[in-house]
Amino acid sequence: MKNKEFHWLSIEPYVHGVVKTNRALLYNTLNKKYLIIHDQPDITTLISKLLDTNNGRVIKLSSSLLQKTTIKEFIESFRKKYMGDLYSSEWSSGKPFIFAPNPIIKESTFQLQDFLHEVTIHLDSGPNPKMKPWKNAYYQFPFPQIDDTKKKEMDFKLLESLIVQLSPLPIATIHLVGNEVFNYSFWIPLMEMIKNKQFRLKIHSPLSHLEDENLIYSGKHTQVSLLITLPINMIDLRKIEALAQNQVDQSEIEFNFVVQTPEEVAAVSEIMKTFKLKNSFFKPYFNGSNLDFFESMVFMNPTDILSSRPGQKQILSRYLLNENDFGRLTVLPDGELFANVNDPRIGILTDTNLADLVKKEWKEGSSWRRIRINQSPCNHCIYQFLCPPVSNYELYLKKFNFCHTVFE
Ligand code: SF4
Repeated sequence: MKNKEFHWLSIEPYVHGVVKTNRALLYNTLNKKYLIIHDQPDITTLISKLLDTNNGRVIKLSSSLLQKTTIKEFIESFRKKYMGDLYSSEWSSGKPFIFAPNPIIKESTFQLQDFLHEVTIHLDSGPNPKMKPWKNAYYQFPFPQIDDTKKKEMDFKLLESLIVQLSPLPIATIHLVGNEVFNYSFWIPLMEMIKNKQFRLKIHSPLSHLEDENLIYSGKHTQVSLLITLPINMIDLRKIEALAQNQVDQSEIEFNFVVQTPEEVAAVSEIMKTFKLKNSFFKPYFNGSNLDFFESMVFMNPTDILSSRPGQKQILSRYLLNENDFGRLTVLPDGELFANVNDPRIGILTDTNLADLVKKEWKEGSSWRRIRINQSPCNHCIYQFLCPPVSNYELYLKKFNFCHTVFE
């Protein structure tokens, strides 16, 4: 009998894994099953070897190692979850090799359309006494820019040049944001310019500035996202009721309730229920002193993370780019351009060609390629590729672990 002394252990190409000191995670992207290992050095060493690209996802296991109960039990669960297999060396004395996909983006033929999918345009910024308590919301989710020093409106020529540059691209969505977005001085010419383009348009407006006639812009490819802060006065409450009753297709309207406390969440839940709002969302707002609210409402625990069940494509993209930011730009009224408003600007529209700025952000920028794998403390965590990408909340708070008990 020859070659009886060892087996080959292989790991499937659709299984991803991370090993961090005494912990390891294996995740099958096809059936979404996982294995978490704590304080079992034999197993973490084995997994490290399996994941080492130099080993071609196949390792040799001696018969003596295979006799160990811990190893035997691990391999049993591993095979049960279709993560890999064990072969006798009689099957092949030469080492088998498994090809695993590597995430790459072809950069040789840069096409702007492959790198730009959404543009957010702030048509105005300025003082807004009513919304002032939410002035930092702009860094957390789409919200008007509030600036106590002066009122600014985007120059129409600048806007025109931007739309001209975007027109040939199959851009998915253009977001228009403003304190008084519908009162933008060049609103009618802007709508005329956009109306025959392929863009999907999303208009973000505080509910308090919405007038009935504004909704005529809520056409086939247009959605109005209403930003609703609390407490809600009677006038705004009636607007919500009227919109809920009159909108034939509620998908054209999005109700975004900005909440800061559990009491506000309870009040909004009641409104959502009373008016049977279909397209309604909570927008948690960090006001500087409600971290405990975020801990209860936004922070994830391992169960939340594991239930996100990302697929192979999503995981591969997380090795390369931040899915929240990639392909998205924000333009402020004076033409300043950002890949993420929490990062330094990447340029000014007037100076440069859009394609050059986008290329630069992709090659050298800090936003689109911000991945958890490179971010502390996520770089020490086994959930780094299962967690959603780094969010604006984390950037704003400068806290890159919106999670509970993950290092336990
Ligand atoms: S430390 Fe980072 S990667 Fe780990 S669970 Fe928290 S957010 Fe996710």
